Amino acid sequence: MFIVPEKEISSLIGRAECFDAIENVFAAMARKDAYNFPVIREAIGHADALYGFKSGFDRTSLALGLKSGGYWPGNEAKGLTNHQSTVILFDADTGKVKALVGGNLLTALRTAAASSVSIKHLAPKGAKILGMIGAGHQSAFQMRAAADQCNFEKVIGWNYHPEMLSRLEEVAAELNLPFESVSLEQLGSDADVIISITSSFDPILMDAHVSGGTHIACMGTDTKGKQEVEASLVARATVFTDEIAQSITIGECQHAVADGLLTESAIIELGAVINGDHKGRTSDDELTLFDGTGVGLQDLAVASSIVDIAVAKGIAIEVDF
Ligand code: NAD
Repeated sequence: MFIVPEKEISSLIGRAECFDAIENVFAAMARKDAYNFPVIREAIGHADALYGFKSGFDRTSLALGLKSGGYWPGNEAKGLTNHQSTVILFDADTGKVKALVGGNLLTALRTAAASSVSIKHLAPKGAKILGMIGAGHQSAFQMRAAADQCNFEKVIGWNYHPEMLSRLEEVAAELNLPFESVSLEQLGSDADVIISITSSFDPILMDAHVSGGTHIACMGTDTKGKQEVEASLVARATVFTDEIAQSITIGECQHAVADGLLTESAIIELGAVINGDHKGRTSDDELTLFDGTGVGLQDLAVASSIVDIAVAKGIAIEVDF
């Protein structure tokens, strides 16, 4: 088996390879060539930790395996990242373990690639203003990946903790884009593309805030109870997702469906748009929303690419196991 340690990941894979891996796997999911197994996520009653598994199988690429890990809130005090995860890949022909891959940076890259894929396929033509809600660890990755898809002229942002907004300003500067901190009202009316990436349990972006043919990528809601967008705003949009089963249980759509404002059958897999089986956005003033819940197949797709590159570069550690 091969081991690719966390410290090597940044030198092995970039945004373009992650984008391709995620676009391909969303397409495979919509063709029913790839499927995710039910997610396990449990409070383990120790160290305040949330621990779980995300797993799946892609019959086209033969990626089989799981990402395991979770959230340890006390880690920061120990000099560690609170989110910890590791991907294990198996040989689909024999079941033998194939690779162990650090999953922390990979998670940020594959999550940013998912919203970036949604922006490529659903953003209004000529989108000029990117609106960011959230300024935590993931937000920097999200902004960089979004900027790969559109010629944005400006980034505007809002965060529950305003003292964190400097992160958005720094990443915007790195992208040579001006940044402005704005109210949610201004963000909703001015942004052509909005990314929400927070750990909120209450709606932040309200129906009344958003006007026009915006594309909203909801990336923070990945657990039952979390919410970033008012349910009626979700219901007003044409809704796309990575996986419908996750969208209605742990994703942003869980609330609109529970409130009877949105039916499961109205939610479209983004992969169907990639495959050309759904037309996606149909007019400039259509409101589109991507519910990016984060599926195990994304982790397997990016981990497989990392292993291939690491083996080719002689960086993967080979272990007789
Ligand atoms: P982080 O801890 O670095 O940042 C948290 C963000 O949420 C900050 O912007 C913070 O100000 C905001 N926030 C905290 N409490 C809030 C509240 N009560 N109301 C509104 N905003 C609040 O976290 P991160 O690593 O940037 O992750 C952000 C979110 O993205 C998390 O919820 C995480 O679970 C989720 N996530 C989703 C995926 C996916 O595939 N969809 C993948 C990775 C992370």
